[in-house]
Amino acid sequence: MELIGAEFFSIIVVAAILFDRWKVQKQNSSLPADKTFLKLLVAYAGFLVIALFNHASILQVIQYPIILERSITIVHLVTFPLFILYWLLSIESQLLERKPLVILGILQIGTSTVYAIYSLADILIDRSYILDETLNVVGGNGFNSTVLLSVVYCALALAIIAISWKKIELGKHLLFFIVPLLLMVSMVFFHLFKHHNLFTLSTSFILLMNYMFFLRKRLEIDALTGVPNQNAFMTRLEWILKQKHEATVFVLDIENFRFINHRYGTAVGDALLQSFATYLSSLVKDADVFRIAGNRFSVVASKLSHNEIVRVVNRFKVRIAQPWEVAGASISFHVNVAIIELPDHAEAKDQVVDTLDFTLSEIKSRRRQPIVIYSKRLMLLRQRRLNILTALRNAISNESMVVVHYQPIYDTSTGHLVSAEALMRLQDDQLGLLMPGEFIPFAENTGLIVNLTEIMLRRVCTFLTNHETAFRHLRHISINVSAEDFSSSDMARRLLDIVDNSGVKASRLSFEMTESLLLESYETVKNSWGAFAQRGITLALDDFGTGYSNLEALVNMPFDIVKIDRSVVSNSTNNFELITLISVVLERLGKSMIAEGVETQEQVEFVRAAGIDCMQGYFFSKPVPEEHFLNLLRYDNAK
Ligand code: C2E
Ligand code: MG
Ligand code: MG
Repeated sequence: MELIGAEFFSIIVVAAILFDRWKVQKQNSSLPADKTFLKLLVAYAGFLVIALFNHASILQVIQYPIILERSITIVHLVTFPLFILYWLLSIESQLLERKPLVILGILQIGTSTVYAIYSLADILIDRSYILDETLNVVGGNGFNSTVLLSVVYCALALAIIAISWKKIELGKHLLFFIVPLLLMVSMVFFHLFKHHNLFTLSTSFILLMNYMFFLRKRLEIDALTGVPNQNAFMTRLEWILKQKHEATVFVLDIENFRFINHRYGTAVGDALLQSFATYLSSLVKDADVFRIAGNRFSVVASKLSHNEIVRVVNRFKVRIAQPWEVAGASISFHVNVAIIELPDHAEAKDQVVDTLDFTLSEIKSRRRQPIVIYSKRLMLLRQRRLNILTALRNAISNESMVVVHYQPIYDTSTGHLVSAEALMRLQDDQLGLLMPGEFIPFAENTGLIVNLTEIMLRRVCTFLTNHETAFRHLRHISINVSAEDFSSSDMARRLLDIVDNSGVKASRLSFEMTESLLLESYETVKNSWGAFAQRGITLALDDFGTGYSNLEALVNMPFDIVKIDRSVVSNSTNNFELITLISVVLERLGKSMIAEGVETQEQVEFVRAAGIDCMQGYFFSKPVPEEHFLNLLRYDNAK
């Protein structure tokens, strides 16, 4: 019965290892699969199942026909040395060169095959395994050869380990050595005392040890820098939060690491990471360093006071300001640091990761301060972002949240209202009226902009059809589109369908796109842009003068209007030459022009003097709701 107990115990060990392995893998799917070890586990599980069947019949828990019973017993005995061989081959394959490995492998597999045939034939011949009436092995050469073969394999493996001692990775000697030794001792004991369970127990023990000391560690240690990896980081966070410990977490992100690898080579990049990890280990006393991504590290310390954090940060700043001498290269690099406190700033590990990511992305988007402590201000900002994102999602399903304001555009020479720009706002119950500066970037990042553009176009078309007479002198109403709108090829078709279904003439519409977007993704936009132009939709280049202007693209692109950015207009009072020059060039190219953001009488004069066709800005009117815009139009028609 103790034998079955031992086997049962072993099955639990195998299951526990597999479960733990699965859990760790789930946390980090990029882990190596450890195929050799997993195969070994499966082979062992197979061995255990055969053994259990055999022993269950010996104890008369299950009854088989006599020939089947005998077969199972002998197969069980045969799997003994085969399993040991399989295991030892996996050790040998790590230590030996290819040639000796192949020779040894052939020899070992050859003897095993002969042994297996010899044993299995015995099922029929019935000579070398002497079994008593309960099918226990009581003697015979077969049994002795099982033990002998296993001991020989173990001795061979021990000899190979002794010869290859220097090749074995530091810290793994004991593990390599103990596996065949324990197996051998258990075989000898098995032979002397006929205690089968010794083998089973020692095998399970070795597997467990192997896993805990070697593989599990490898799952938690970063191979390059030797510091714990992302897995270990997550486990640590979980533990801190569960125990309600107070901790300060630093995350350090090396910027443009790809560039360092590219410029100096990956060997130098690796050396830099190692040197950086070593430095971090000494940055905060009693803290732990983790490498949580390729170029990202974390330092986790028990709660530090504000002064202590400042001291650490200052020390780090001094160090990072100097170049790093690694592998003969002198490298300067930039590191962004986000600092959060637990449990104040996050209560679950995913929240910790989110908070750190958010802080780092804030640092990157602002580019003012490379080291930021997560604060109440950031917490509120993040909450607002989340709220805006929710409002944005709601607006897609509840279109009445989308509010369109119209800003009139006036002809410089006649002073008449000639066109208008439709500008989007979101009306949210809780957040109030949201301006595009806050939500358009999100809408672009999430792809929701496509839906918003469609909603805007439908609204403007309806507005145009409902007030045909009022709009009779108006050239067109413009809508802003984003480059993201054209990431799907059928978007132009969908927008044109909206126009067709509304019955509005395409020439009453205009699309605006910013210069930088148009230049960046010109290839994507080109086709749609062409289709719009063909249908008579006026195309305008927005915010001209903010980015760098590619004159060649400017000449080749089929837009009719260039909107000169507010910054150029407001600067015109100091730098009249610039706006005049722009105007001359654009006029040469045959583009009409609109000056944006005209705020003062003085600017009106300068814009007029520069020869720009139209003007838009607070001096005339802010963007206003539909009714208000209709009043402006009626007033203008009456002039
Ligand atoms: P934009 O297309 O350049 O629109 C002009 C912006 O300048 C508007 O801001 C307008 O209110 C503001 N503005 C006009 N005149 C003046 C002035 O005299 N002084 C000042 N300080 N500002 C003036 P708004 O409505 O906040 O829109 C900001 C940006 O958001 C727009 O810049 C546009 O790029 C984007 N946007 C607005 N609506 C939409 C839309 O429906 N779809 C897309 N994709 N983007 C939109
Ligand atoms: Mg615009
Ligand atoms: Mg603009």
